[in-house]
Amino acid sequence: MQVVRDVASLRGAVASARARGERIGFVPTMGALHAGHLSLIERARAQCTCVVLSIFVNPLQFAPTEDLAQYPRTEQADLAAAATCGATLVFVPGVEVMYPGARVVSVVPERIADRWEGAIRPGHFAGVLTVVTKLFNLVQPDIAVFGQKDLQQATLIRALVRDLDVPVTLDIAPIIREVDGLALSSRNRFLDGDARRAAGVLSQSLVTIAARFATGTADVRALIADGDARLRTESSVHADYLSIVDPIGLAPVRSASVGDFVIVAARVGATRLLDNHRLGDPLPLLS
Ligand code: AMP
Repeated sequence: MQVVRDVASLRGAVASARARGERIGFVPTMGALHAGHLSLIERARAQCTCVVLSIFVNPLQFAPTEDLAQYPRTEQADLAAAATCGATLVFVPGVEVMYPGARVVSVVPERIADRWEGAIRPGHFAGVLTVVTKLFNLVQPDIAVFGQKDLQQATLIRALVRDLDVPVTLDIAPIIREVDGLALSSRNRFLDGDARRAAGVLSQSLVTIAARFATGTADVRALIADGDARLRTESSVHADYLSIVDPIGLAPVRSASVGDFVIVAARVGATRLLDNHRLGDPLPLLS
């Protein structure tokens, strides 16, 4: 596994792989790798001989009030884990490599992205789409793997590829969870004992809704009331939103159907957590 930190070395290594006739798979991350990230690398590796992993904590997607400085950075452990999962090339740029000067052009989504995370984190998705566009142009992968865990992000990247004709195939990978159902996240390491236990209620609320839907209830108000009641059993958990949305625009639906997503975001202490579940998919098994 080769580690590169500048654009010329990245382009050179990718060009060599391409000249050998290899397919290029790409997994962008912000590091602090966990089993969810590793599942994306393995998924890329199953489809491509050259798997590029990027590790870059992108300042553009953090608001000044957010946790950029606190975001975990565990490069040595990340590189060791990436190697065991089949990454062949790791791009670890510094901020000065990705943003060498004042930027005049950004990739900004339309107003439709101003809901959910877009409403709570203004400018976040412009930061994500700008860095993902830069990374796509640097790596020029055949396939890029993203997680369903960040559903709105995956939806907007799908829109980016479609609307700007980016020549890449997207692969959206399932959510990897802890045994109690908590979706793995780099931020989970900030949860202390009590908060960690309470955080399980996010996935429990999704399961409550999905189980009631499976028994034939499509009425969203009834479904959300059930999920909300579950969330409220933990007083340290403060929901930002719990909703059922269509899979294309993530607009709230009134009557739930197979293929719609239940989405939840909540704060547990100072840590913000996201989760979602596609109605009709097998229920996450909770211990
Ligand atoms: P991040 O490092 O948080 O930017 O995440 C990098 C990629 O890993 C994104 O495509 C995420 O959606 C994905 N990811 C994060 N958590 C999980 C998880 N629990 N299961 C699967 N993929 C995940």
